[in-house]
Amino acid sequence: MSKAADIIKNALNEGRTFLLENESKTIIAEYGIPTTVFEVASSPEEAVSKAEKIGYPVVLKILSPDIIHKSDAGGVITNLKNADEVKEAYNKIIENAKKYKPDAKINGVFIQEFAPLGIEIIIGMVKDPQFGPAIMFGLGGIFVEVLKDVSFRVAPLTDKDADDMIHEIKGYPLLTGIRGQKPADIEALKKTLVGISKLVMDFPQIKELDLNPVFAYPDGVKCIDARIILEK
Ligand code: ADP
Ligand code: MG
Repeated sequence: MSKAADIIKNALNEGRTFLLENESKTIIAEYGIPTTVFEVASSPEEAVSKAEKIGYPVVLKILSPDIIHKSDAGGVITNLKNADEVKEAYNKIIENAKKYKPDAKINGVFIQEFAPLGIEIIIGMVKDPQFGPAIMFGLGGIFVEVLKDVSFRVAPLTDKDADDMIHEIKGYPLLTGIRGQKPADIEALKKTLVGISKLVMDFPQIKELDLNPVFAYPDGVKCIDARIILEK
Protein backbone atom coordinates (compact mmCIF):
# COMPACT_ATOMS: atom_id res chain seq x y z
CA MET A 1 0.00 0.00 0.00
CA SER A 2 1.21 3.55 -0.66
CA LYS A 3 2.21 5.68 2.30
CA ALA A 4 -0.70 8.00 1.51
CA ALA A 5 -3.22 5.15 1.59
CA ASP A 6 -1.73 3.88 4.84
CA ILE A 7 -1.84 7.25 6.60
CA ILE A 8 -5.41 7.95 5.50
CA LYS A 9 -6.65 4.51 6.52
CA ASN A 10 -4.91 4.75 9.86
CA ALA A 11 -6.39 8.19 10.66
CA LEU A 12 -9.91 7.08 9.75
CA ASN A 13 -9.50 3.93 11.88
CA GLU A 14 -8.62 6.19 14.80
CA GLY A 15 -11.72 8.28 14.09
CA ARG A 16 -9.66 11.29 13.01
CA THR A 17 -10.53 13.45 10.01
CA PHE A 18 -7.71 15.96 10.48
CA LEU A 19 -4.25 14.81 9.42
CA LEU A 20 -1.23 16.13 11.31
CA GLU A 21 1.31 18.21 9.43
CA ASN A 22 3.86 15.37 9.31
CA GLU A 23 1.21 13.05 7.86
CA SER A 24 0.06 15.60 5.28
CA LYS A 25 3.63 16.36 4.25
CA THR A 26 4.49 12.67 3.89
CA ILE A 27 1.48 12.29 1.59
CA ILE A 28 2.24 15.26 -0.64
CA ALA A 29 5.93 14.30 -0.83
CA GLU A 30 4.79 10.99 -2.28
CA TYR A 31 3.13 13.01 -5.06
CA GLY A 32 6.40 14.71 -5.92
CA ILE A 33 5.90 17.96 -3.99
CA PRO A 34 9.02 19.16 -2.17
CA THR A 35 8.47 19.89 1.54
CA THR A 36 10.66 21.00 4.41
CA VAL A 37 12.81 18.26 5.91
CA PHE A 38 11.17 17.21 9.17
CA GLU A 39 11.40 15.07 12.33
CA VAL A 40 9.10 14.47 15.29
CA ALA A 41 10.15 14.70 18.95
CA SER A 42 8.45 14.03 22.25
CA SER A 43 10.92 15.59 24.69
CA PRO A 44 13.16 18.69 24.70
CA GLU A 45 16.26 16.46 24.53
CA GLU A 46 14.91 14.55 21.57
CA ALA A 47 14.04 17.86 19.90
CA VAL A 48 17.68 18.95 20.22
CA SER A 49 19.07 15.74 18.78
CA LYS A 50 16.60 15.91 15.87
CA ALA A 51 17.43 19.59 15.30
CA GLU A 52 21.10 18.69 15.16
CA LYS A 53 20.35 16.00 12.62
CA ILE A 54 18.43 18.50 10.42
CA GLY A 55 20.91 21.34 10.96
CA TYR A 56 20.26 24.82 12.39
CA PRO A 57 18.31 27.03 12.09
CA VAL A 58 15.11 25.05 12.70
CA VAL A 59 11.41 25.66 13.31
CA LEU A 60 9.35 23.96 16.04
CA LYS A 61 5.59 23.42 15.73
CA ILE A 62 2.92 21.82 17.89
CA LEU A 63 1.66 18.41 16.74
CA SER A 64 -1.85 17.98 18.06
CA PRO A 65 -4.98 16.51 16.51
CA ASP A 66 -6.91 19.15 18.50
CA ILE A 67 -5.03 22.20 17.19
CA ILE A 68 -5.65 22.92 13.53
CA HIS A 69 -4.30 26.48 13.34
CA LYS A 70 -0.95 26.15 15.03
CA SER A 71 0.12 29.79 15.23
CA ASP A 72 -3.22 30.78 16.83
CA ALA A 73 -2.16 28.52 19.70
CA GLY A 74 1.35 29.98 19.97
CA GLY A 75 2.42 26.69 18.42
CA VAL A 76 5.00 27.84 15.86
CA ILE A 77 8.46 29.19 16.76
CA THR A 78 10.85 29.88 13.88
CA ASN A 79 14.55 30.52 13.40
CA LEU A 80 15.98 28.58 16.36
CA LYS A 81 19.75 28.61 16.18
CA ASN A 82 21.07 26.34 18.92
CA ALA A 83 20.25 23.64 21.49
CA ASP A 84 19.23 26.11 24.22
CA GLU A 85 16.81 27.90 21.94
CA VAL A 86 15.30 24.58 20.83
CA LYS A 87 14.77 23.36 24.43
CA GLU A 88 13.21 26.64 25.45
CA ALA A 89 10.94 26.68 22.37
CA TYR A 90 9.87 23.07 23.02
CA ASN A 91 8.71 23.88 26.54
CA LYS A 92 7.08 27.12 25.46
CA ILE A 93 5.09 25.41 22.68
CA ILE A 94 3.77 22.72 25.02
CA GLU A 95 2.88 25.36 27.62
CA ASN A 96 1.11 27.53 25.00
CA ALA A 97 -0.85 24.54 23.68
CA LYS A 98 -2.04 23.60 27.18
CA LYS A 99 -3.13 27.17 27.82
CA TYR A 100 -4.91 27.38 24.47
CA LYS A 101 -6.80 24.10 24.88
CA PRO A 102 -6.31 22.42 28.25
CA ASP A 103 -7.72 19.09 27.07
CA ALA A 104 -5.78 18.99 23.78
CA LYS A 105 -4.03 15.73 23.02
CA ILE A 106 -0.39 16.53 22.30
CA ASN A 107 1.49 14.10 20.05
CA GLY A 108 4.79 15.91 20.37
CA VAL A 109 6.60 18.63 18.53
CA PHE A 110 7.39 18.82 14.86
CA ILE A 111 10.90 20.00 13.94
CA GLN A 112 11.79 21.24 10.51
CA GLU A 113 14.43 23.16 8.65
CA PHE A 114 13.92 26.93 8.68
CA ALA A 115 13.29 27.58 5.00
CA PRO A 116 14.52 30.80 3.40
CA LEU A 117 11.68 33.14 2.49
CA GLY A 118 10.34 32.71 -1.03
CA ILE A 119 7.31 34.17 -2.77
CA GLU A 120 4.35 33.00 -0.69
CA ILE A 121 1.87 30.83 -2.56
CA ILE A 122 -1.33 29.13 -1.46
CA ILE A 123 -2.63 25.98 -3.09
CA GLY A 124 -5.87 24.40 -1.96
CA MET A 125 -8.64 21.99 -2.80
CA VAL A 126 -12.31 22.36 -2.00
CA LYS A 127 -15.17 20.14 -3.08
CA ASP A 128 -17.94 21.61 -5.13
CA PRO A 129 -21.20 19.69 -4.63
CA GLN A 130 -21.80 19.73 -8.38
CA PHE A 131 -18.34 19.55 -9.95
CA GLY A 132 -16.35 17.65 -7.33
CA PRO A 133 -12.80 18.57 -6.30
CA ALA A 134 -11.61 22.01 -7.45
CA ILE A 135 -8.03 23.19 -7.12
CA MET A 136 -7.23 26.74 -6.00
CA PHE A 137 -4.09 28.76 -6.68
CA GLY A 138 -3.15 32.16 -5.29
CA LEU A 139 -0.47 34.33 -3.81
CA GLY A 140 -0.31 34.20 0.00
CA GLY A 141 -0.79 36.86 2.65
CA ILE A 142 -2.87 39.93 1.79
CA PHE A 143 -3.32 38.75 -1.80
CA VAL A 144 -5.59 35.94 -0.76
CA GLU A 145 -6.94 37.36 2.51
CA VAL A 146 -7.79 40.88 1.34
CA LEU A 147 -7.79 40.83 -2.43
CA LYS A 148 -9.17 37.28 -2.94
CA ASP A 149 -6.83 37.04 -5.92
CA VAL A 150 -7.17 33.32 -6.64
CA SER A 151 -7.92 31.04 -9.59
CA PHE A 152 -9.85 27.76 -9.61
CA ARG A 153 -10.07 24.71 -11.88
CA VAL A 154 -12.05 21.50 -11.49
CA ALA A 155 -9.75 18.45 -11.10
CA PRO A 156 -8.17 16.57 -12.82
CA LEU A 157 -5.82 19.30 -14.05
CA THR A 158 -3.83 19.08 -17.25
CA ASP A 159 -0.49 20.79 -17.54
CA LYS A 160 -2.22 23.50 -19.57
CA ASP A 161 -4.88 24.03 -16.85
CA ALA A 162 -2.13 24.50 -14.27
CA ASP A 163 -0.34 26.97 -16.54
CA ASP A 164 -3.58 28.93 -17.12
CA MET A 165 -4.36 29.06 -13.39
CA ILE A 166 -0.98 30.56 -12.63
CA HIS A 167 -1.25 33.16 -15.39
CA GLU A 168 -4.82 34.11 -14.50
CA ILE A 169 -4.25 35.68 -11.10
CA LYS A 170 -3.90 39.46 -11.07
CA GLY A 171 -0.70 39.17 -9.10
CA TYR A 172 0.96 37.09 -11.80
CA PRO A 173 3.58 39.81 -12.57
CA LEU A 174 4.91 39.28 -9.02
CA LEU A 175 5.95 35.79 -10.12
CA THR A 176 7.89 37.03 -13.11
CA GLY A 177 10.45 39.01 -11.16
CA ILE A 178 9.57 42.66 -10.79
CA ARG A 179 11.61 45.31 -8.98
CA GLY A 180 14.82 43.37 -9.30
CA GLN A 181 13.38 40.24 -7.64
CA LYS A 182 14.18 36.89 -9.19
CA PRO A 183 11.25 35.17 -10.97
CA ALA A 184 9.49 32.19 -9.39
CA ASP A 185 9.95 28.70 -10.83
CA ILE A 186 6.68 28.42 -12.79
CA GLU A 187 7.40 24.85 -13.93
CA ALA A 188 7.76 23.73 -10.32
CA LEU A 189 4.48 25.47 -9.41
CA LYS A 190 2.74 23.71 -12.30
CA LYS A 191 4.09 20.34 -11.14
CA THR A 192 2.79 21.09 -7.64
CA LEU A 193 -0.70 21.86 -8.94
CA VAL A 194 -0.79 18.74 -11.10
CA GLY A 195 0.55 16.62 -8.21
CA ILE A 196 -2.19 17.87 -5.88
CA SER A 197 -4.79 17.22 -8.55
CA LYS A 198 -3.56 13.63 -8.91
CA LEU A 199 -3.61 13.15 -5.13
CA VAL A 200 -7.21 14.32 -4.71
CA MET A 201 -8.35 12.22 -7.68
CA ASP A 202 -6.66 9.14 -6.18
CA PHE A 203 -8.24 9.73 -2.75
CA PRO A 204 -11.89 10.82 -2.77
CA GLN A 205 -11.63 10.48 1.04
CA ILE A 206 -9.87 13.88 1.04
CA LYS A 207 -12.42 16.57 1.81
CA GLU A 208 -10.18 19.64 1.95
CA LEU A 209 -6.54 20.33 1.36
CA ASP A 210 -4.54 23.43 2.08
CA LEU A 211 -0.87 24.11 1.38
CA ASN A 212 -0.35 27.45 3.10
CA PRO A 213 2.25 28.63 2.48
CA VAL A 214 4.29 27.13 -0.32
CA PHE A 215 7.46 29.14 -0.88
CA ALA A 216 8.34 29.65 -4.55
CA TYR A 217 12.02 30.17 -5.35
CA PRO A 218 13.83 30.97 -8.61
CA ASP A 219 14.78 27.30 -8.60
CA GLY A 220 12.05 25.05 -7.18
CA VAL A 221 9.34 25.32 -4.53
CA LYS A 222 8.96 24.11 -0.95
CA CYS A 223 5.79 23.35 0.98
CA ILE A 224 6.06 24.98 4.42
CA ASP A 225 2.70 23.93 5.88
CA ALA A 226 0.18 21.32 4.74
CA ARG A 227 -3.27 20.50 6.08
CA ILE A 228 -5.52 17.69 4.90
CA ILE A 229 -9.08 17.12 6.15
CA LEU A 230 -10.79 13.80 5.43
CA GLU A 231 -14.45 13.03 4.82
CA LYS A 232 -16.23 11.57 7.88
P1 ADP B 1 -0.36 27.53 10.89
O1 ADP B 1 -0.95 26.23 11.34
O2 ADP B 1 -0.58 28.60 11.88
O3 ADP B 1 -0.82 27.89 9.50
P2 ADP B 1 2.35 27.32 9.72
O4 ADP B 1 3.03 26.00 9.71
O5 ADP B 1 1.82 27.82 8.41
O6 ADP B 1 1.22 27.28 10.85
O7 ADP B 1 3.38 28.38 10.32
C1 ADP B 1 3.05 29.76 10.43
C2 ADP B 1 4.03 30.61 9.65
O8 ADP B 1 5.36 30.41 10.14
C3 ADP B 1 4.11 30.27 8.17
O9 ADP B 1 3.13 30.93 7.43
C4 ADP B 1 5.51 30.71 7.79
O10 ADP B 1 5.56 32.11 7.55
C5 ADP B 1 6.30 30.43 9.08
N1 ADP B 1 6.96 29.11 8.97
C6 ADP B 1 6.43 27.93 9.35
N2 ADP B 1 7.27 26.91 9.10
C7 ADP B 1 8.37 27.44 8.54
C8 ADP B 1 9.62 26.89 8.05
N3 ADP B 1 9.88 25.59 8.11
N4 ADP B 1 10.51 27.77 7.52
C9 ADP B 1 10.26 29.08 7.47
N5 ADP B 1 9.12 29.66 7.92
C10 ADP B 1 8.18 28.85 8.45
MG1 MG C 1 -0.09 27.67 7.58
